[in-house]
Formats: sequence, C-alpha cells, structure tokens
Amino acid sequence: MALQSKLPNIGTNIFSVMSAMARRYDAINLSQGFPNFDCDQGLKDLVMENVEAGRNQYAPMPGIPELREIIATKIGTLYNADVDPDLNITITAGATQAIYTAIATVIRKGDNAIIFDPAYDCYAPSVLSFGGTVTPIALRGPNFAIDWDEVEEKITPDTKMIVINTPHNPLGRVLKEQDLDRLEQIVYRHDDLYVLSDEVYEHQIYDGLEHQSVLRRPGLSERSFAVYSFGKVFHITGWKVGYCVAPEHLTTEFRKMHQFITFAVNTPMQYALAAFLQDASKYMALPDFFQAKRDLFKNLMADTEFDLLPCEGSYFMLGDYSRISDLDDMAFAEWLTREHGVATIPLSPFYSTPPDQKIVRFCFAKTDDVLQSAASKLSLVINE
Ligand code: PMP
Ligand code: GLN
Repeated sequence: MALQSKLPNIGTNIFSVMSAMARRYDAINLSQGFPNFDCDQGLKDLVMENVEAGRNQYAPMPGIPELREIIATKIGTLYNADVDPDLNITITAGATQAIYTAIATVIRKGDNAIIFDPAYDCYAPSVLSFGGTVTPIALRGPNFAIDWDEVEEKITPDTKMIVINTPHNPLGRVLKEQDLDRLEQIVYRHDDLYVLSDEVYEHQIYDGLEHQSVLRRPGLSERSFAVYSFGKVFHITGWKVGYCVAPEHLTTEFRKMHQFITFAVNTPMQYALAAFLQDASKYMALPDFFQAKRDLFKNLMADTEFDLLPCEGSYFMLGDYSRISDLDDMAFAEWLTREHGVATIPLSPFYSTPPDQKIVRFCFAKTDDVLQSAASKLSLVINE
C-alpha cells in the first residue's frame, strides 16, 4: 500500500522548477531569489579562520552566545527593542526552519492560521503538515493592502496564528504603521492568537520607508515570532542561517521543537557571522545598494512591453505581461525561458486561489551586466 501523502496537493516548489528550467535552456535566471554576486571576502575569510581554529563541533542548541548577543544589539539599535540574547533569540537553519518551527510550536490538529494571498510558499504547507487549516485572505490590487476588517471577520475560536510578511515576497510591498496598529488591536482582543512575522527582507526597503518590525511594539512582540535570514542580509542564501526572535514564553516552546528539528546550526558560520555583524555599515548599506538595482532594472525595462508594478521592498519586481500574451502565467514563464532566454517566477503558485491576472516576478538581485542583458532580451518580447 502506498504511503498516504500528508501534502497531496503540493508538488516541487516553483523556485526549484524555474531554476532547473533556466539551466535547461541556458537562460538568464531572474527567477529564484538569490544574488548572482558573491558575499564579502571578509566574511569568507572569517569562516576559514574559524574552521582552521577548530570550531567544528556542535554549537549550543540555541546558537552561540556571541551571535545572539550581537543580534540583540542590532535589534536594540534598529527597533529600539529590549531583546535578551538568552531568552529571546534562537539561531535557525535559515528562515525556513524558523517558520516551520514556529508553526510546529503553535499549530495543533484543527487549529487555523490566517495567511494572506499571495504568500511565500512555505507557510501553508507547514500549517497543513501539523493538521492545521488555512484561511486565505486576498491582497487585492492595485495596492495589495490588507483588509483588516476582513481579518477580524474571519477570525474564529480556532484561529491561532496570523502570518505577515514585510517587505513582501512576491508583491514587493511593505506594511505601514497603520497595519501594525490594526494587527496589535486584533491580537489584544484574542487571548490565544500569535503572529508569525516574516521579516527576511528587513534591509531591502526603499525610498526612505521604515521597516515596520513587530519588534518595535512591546505589546505585539509579546505574541510574535519574528524571523530573519542572513541569506538575504549578506548574500549567502546557500548558508541557510537565520534566527527567530520571540518572547521567553514562546522561545521556551520554540526551542523544544527546534532541538528535535535540527538541534543546532553549523558552528563556523555562526562565529563568522558574529564577527562580521560587528560592522553595522555592511547591512546599513543594503537599502541604497538594492534601490540602485531596482531603479536600474526599472529604467532598463521601460523599453519593454512589460508593465512593472511598484516595488517598495524585497528584491523582486512584478511585471504584468497582458500587452504581450494571453498565455497563463505558468505557460508564459516557460515560453519566456525557452524562447527568450529569461527565467522568471509565475505568480499563481503563491496563491491558494489564483486570480485572473498575467503577472510574473523578476529578481533584481543581479549584477548590472546581467540586468542589462536580461532587459535587452526582454525588449524583444512583443505580442506576435
Ligand atoms: N521568507 C521569505 C519571504 C523568503 O523570500 C525566503 C527565501 N529567502 C524565506 C523566508 C526563506 O529564507 P531562508 O533561505 O533563510 O530559509
Ligand atoms: N526565497 C526565494 C524566492 O522567493 C527562494 C527560496 C527557495 O528556493 N526555496 O525566490
């Protein structure tokens, strides 16, 4: 008898599918979200130094103290939050593990999570794998703002979690102060309701906008798991190191799960990151660095038939291809990769119920020459 799937409706994730397609057709890969440039040499040297120094055995289960301490300092400076490295911070194998572990900590069979539609791909399957249910709430164009009245209406006694993501993947929008006000009011009104706040793009935020971290608000952070990824901060998506910040009562339960999901995260990388983080100028430079890429890509794309949607944060830009093709977004993305040599991500896999729209996602975390080559290929894409 075949094993009954716990996730019968889930296939291989779209990022793997599109990156494989990019390789197959030798296309420029603007699909999966990773930089095509390397991380800082200083960070690589620190890894080698720590490997050579013999820091190659298990790290403490919550992460090495040096890394948790400098993260607490960073959070204190950026978000004016009083975070205790021992009680509130757990180092994880990337944000994905932090998200999965937070969901494992909260969601029991029959519990419900509110997830905005579209959403990054890992939230809903993680909820389903613990026997939870998902209530999708649509973010509708043109602004893709959250309808907080609808959120209030859809909360039931089973609702245990609201998942937010700012800056947002794939929309490139950011939550505003008023959004966090409403979220905080809602959470106050329900005793057993927790927030999972995916803030991996905290430093990819543009035009002087302020990142609305849940950690800025003591009332909200008391009920929140805030998750981060060094993959996005230091151009090291392959290292899979991230962290979760949560109040003590949640961190205690989170770590009970964490110790059996991964136990501890690789040691030399943690030492390297702890040392590298001492220089705040490295991550404080990110908004300008990526804003310049966003603007370059936007200007280059002005010569194409794609209509770009605004990008306030993240390193993704959405392009509406209605003027080019009637194909659905999966077929269009495949056609674009095969016939025009540029791989993108279709938007429908981010939805529980995809709307009727013709949009693909471009990742602009690429060197300028690659953005230029991609745009010149895309300028040849016309309605035939
Ligand atoms: N959340 C969002 C919104 C993401 O885009 C990603 C991908 N970087 C993750 C979480 C997962 O991060 P990590 O690679 O650190 O697991
Ligand atoms: N976060 C990346 C993206 O949105 C992909 C991560 C992954 O491949 N799982 O493209």
